[in-house]
Amino acid sequence: MSEEKRFCRRCFLEESGEADVLSDIRTRIARIPPAQKADETLYRRRLDCCAACDYLIGGVCMKCGCYPEFRAAFKKNRCPNPAKKAW
Ligand code: SF4
Repeated sequence: MSEEKRFCRRCFLEESGEADVLSDIRTRIARIPPAQKADETLYRRRLDCCAACDYLIGGVCMKCGCYPEFRAAFKKNRCPNPAKKAW
């Protein structure tokens, strides 16, 4: 029996095994000036919204094409779906 790798449509990069992309995003997040960066509570609350959103597919927001794990790290950024107003 072959081992089939299952793909979760709604996963974040953190969960999907996209290690290179995730590493690059974490490096970029670390470079965001503190005054522009969302605090950890806000960041996690935003990602909770994305985790429950139908537009999140394979770590990418299909509404705008961004990586929510990066977009959510900027205090000023907003969810690109005005109908949803998730964050
Ligand atoms: S539409 Fe908004 S809530 Fe949904 S994945 Fe994109 S950024 Fe997240």
